[in-house]
Amino acid sequence: MARYTDSVCRLCRREGVKLFLKATRCETAKCAIDRRAYLPGQHGQGRKKFSEYGVQLREKQKVKRFYGVLEKQFRIYFAAADRAKGVTGENLLQKLESRLDNVVYRMGLGESRNAARQMISHNHFMVNGKRVNIPSYIVKKGDVISPSERKLGKASIKKALERAKEKTLPHWLSFDPDSKQGLVQSLPTREDVAIPVEEQLIVELYSR
Ligand code: SF4
Repeated sequence: MARYTDSVCRLCRREGVKLFLKATRCETAKCAIDRRAYLPGQHGQGRKKFSEYGVQLREKQKVKRFYGVLEKQFRIYFAAADRAKGVTGENLLQKLESRLDNVVYRMGLGESRNAARQMISHNHFMVNGKRVNIPSYIVKKGDVISPSERKLGKASIKKALERAKEKTLPHWLSFDPDSKQGLVQSLPTREDVAIPVEEQLIVELYSR
């Protein structure tokens, strides 16, 4: 599967917002966006203005990068959101927020969405007692997420469980340290998206 391999901090600087792509470093003074709050590249400090199209494009790129989704898959999400009942932009954000890699990260079981994605691909988690190794798996209300029995002895899972104990969870998720199980209590809503987004701009971009 294709994936982005260049500097991820560059992506935050490009979008002008913290996308939290680097685990604990994002919370420290080493965060690149705090140290160099201008666009990346040779002319980064000179470029400021965007056209209407540019503004729409940046909004789409920001959301894509925040969730670590590539263009082709993002278009598939958009098409599904457009077909579904309700407001297209909100449907889109709800789908992205319901991805298993995002849920594992939000529960504290993954240090970042990237780390969560890797753990899922390596069979570290189960959904409703069945192994799921697809990071783009969309969770439903009532789904139970737990570490795979066979991985419980691994240092990465022990750390993940410790982290999940400390993590402040959004209202739609819960985690029980005793049973080592997380629960999707409800589907996320528009308000649960953790970065500032004007999703209408993305709808306008794809409606051109
Ligand atoms: Fe983005 Fe984190 Fe890098 Fe800061 S440290 S620029 S938030 S990826």
